[in-house]
Amino acid sequence: MLVVQKFGGTSVGTIDRIRNVANRVAQAKSEGNDVVVVVSAMAGETNRLIELAKSAVADPDPREMDVLVSTGEQVSSALLSMTLISMGIRARSLQNHQVRLLTDSSFMKAHIKRIDAQKLKAVVKEGSVAIVSGFQGIDEHGDITTLGRGGSDTTAVAIAAAMKPHVKDGLVCEIYTDVDGVYTADPNLVPAARKLKRISFEEMFELASSGSKVLQTRSVLFGMKFDIPIHVRSSFNNSEGTMVVNETLDMESVVVTGISHDKNQAKITVIHVSDTPGIAHSVFAPLAAAEINVDMIIQSASSEGYTDMSFTVPRTDYKQAMQILNGLVEQKKAMRVTGDDKIAKVSLVGVGMRTHAGVAAKMFKTLADARVNIQMISTSEIKISVVINENDLKKTVEVLHKGFTLEK
Ligand code: ADP
Ligand code: ASP
Ligand code: MG
Repeated sequence: MLVVQKFGGTSVGTIDRIRNVANRVAQAKSEGNDVVVVVSAMAGETNRLIELAKSAVADPDPREMDVLVSTGEQVSSALLSMTLISMGIRARSLQNHQVRLLTDSSFMKAHIKRIDAQKLKAVVKEGSVAIVSGFQGIDEHGDITTLGRGGSDTTAVAIAAAMKPHVKDGLVCEIYTDVDGVYTADPNLVPAARKLKRISFEEMFELASSGSKVLQTRSVLFGMKFDIPIHVRSSFNNSEGTMVVNETLDMESVVVTGISHDKNQAKITVIHVSDTPGIAHSVFAPLAAAEINVDMIIQSASSEGYTDMSFTVPRTDYKQAMQILNGLVEQKKAMRVTGDDKIAKVSLVGVGMRTHAGVAAKMFKTLADARVNIQMISTSEIKISVVINENDLKKTVEVLHKGFTLEK
């Protein structure tokens, strides 16, 4: 069996913890498995490097940024590899160019195009453990790229997908992190949150894309597309974690599976734009050109030929988005632009919503009873999201968790 094990920043945060990881890898190897390991940078290291760049220049060049931040993973892969070798286990660290993890050239948020499994296959075949630096790739010009924050999850699942055609006796991708698995809500926010035995790819995708950083969204997409069983578990104990799997029929009997939250959000309203064809395009095209992702768009009912538009953007893009949209006011295409970056988004997710009515009504009643003001609402097939004041975040997630009896 091929076991792909990914260890997050906390799991390789100190030399002691790297020894702990080495023991786990040794265990999987001694059980007769082929093992490929993917490591993150040591806890805090990626943030430290980003701050270092910002202290050097106000607006660091993206290409150089990736050269810088990718070093974190290089350090941890070498440390783990030398620890294993000292234990008498054959191991080899591999960087992006050696794995030939080819991406596009969008620095700091590159997409994986291809992984050349030959090198990994050869290392595994000689009986060595391959220790791959997560988060990083290489583009067609040979430049170093990175996959966006949390990207080592995606490296791991993508490597499992690339190796899948070459394994005959099964494979699993284990994501080792600082919690025991995927919970009904972030256990660091809601102590009553409960660990899920399993969750469908689709639900995990919705949770991840609406703020649950336990898995990077794109790793879930790779898992879904290539049917890779993903086991999310703790590197600090041996308990069973959460299996991310294809949906099964009985999953629909549960209406709400989990609650996600996202504090990295800001709300913008463009006031009094003329309600004519092309106006949405003139609001959103300049944001798209600046690669700012827009979410939860609401256009109010038109009055006397004018309308307002509200939407959310990542908080990190808020200032730039406001600047761009103030251009519309200067061009007299809008009267005013207002914004609020002290908001949070909370989402209920569950495949059972497809077949059960009344989830939204119950959500709104629960929030009304708790005197939480809802600023925006959006729904999709298996998700309902609301925007609230960030000061209400903990209360909101907790009353919803209780209201939908998720602790049971
Ligand atoms: P790693 O460094 O191992 O990649 P991350 O910090 O990226 O770890 O992800 C793990 C964190 O995800 C947890 O510490 C937890 O706070 C957060 N998290 C958010 N939502 C959930 C959830 N539903 N279940 C488990 N953890 C969650
Ligand atoms: N080290 C990178 C980050 O902190 C990638 C990862 O940990 O997955 O975002
Ligand atoms: Mg992570």
